Amino acid sequence: MSGFPTASGPSAIEPPTIEPPTAADLAVVAEQLGREPRGVVAVAARCVCGRPVVVRTAPRLPDGTPFPTTYYLTAPGAVAAVSRLEAGGLMREMNERLAADAELAAAHRRAHEDYLARRAEIGSAEEIDGISAGGMPDRVKCLHVLVGHALARGPGINPLGDETLALIADEWSPRVCRC
Ligand SMILES: [Zn+2]
Repeated sequence: MSGFPTASGPSAIEPPTIEPPTAADLAVVAEQLGREPRGVVAVAARCVCGRPVVVRTAPRLPDGTPFPTTYYLTAPGAVAAVSRLEAGGLMREMNERLAADAELAAAHRRAHEDYLARRAEIGSAEEIDGISAGGMPDRVKCLHVLVGHALARGPGINPLGDETLALIADEWSPRVCRC
């Protein structure tokens, strides 16, 4: 007898439930983006008012294009606040810290792995196999990506996304509706 649990046993991991967006959700996202959203499989984070702030997007869009930004930040207030931090040089500072701080670098790499694992739950596209987004696993190239991931997954998964959210908290937060 093997001591290993069987896949169908009580220790099996339940597949995640992914609730598709409603027509109202997609209408809000279209308004936020100024275009029709494509490939949205779920709303990954919402404002306290219920409006989407991050959408979870299929790794391959309906027209066949591979799409690496699985968690896409749509809330205009958040996008603007994060853009200001990018313009202020925060990414350069984070990249310097990633190069100097092994613990932070390891956490950033774990965020990359989580990103890929969450994408794998909703599909795949061979062109982006092993490629996450935003500069992960080794760099920071887009803070919007890290913030989208942090909002979708909650604190403790994407440390630099968490930090960025803390920095914009007075200006934008999912807990205070400014929609
Ligand atoms: Zn709101």
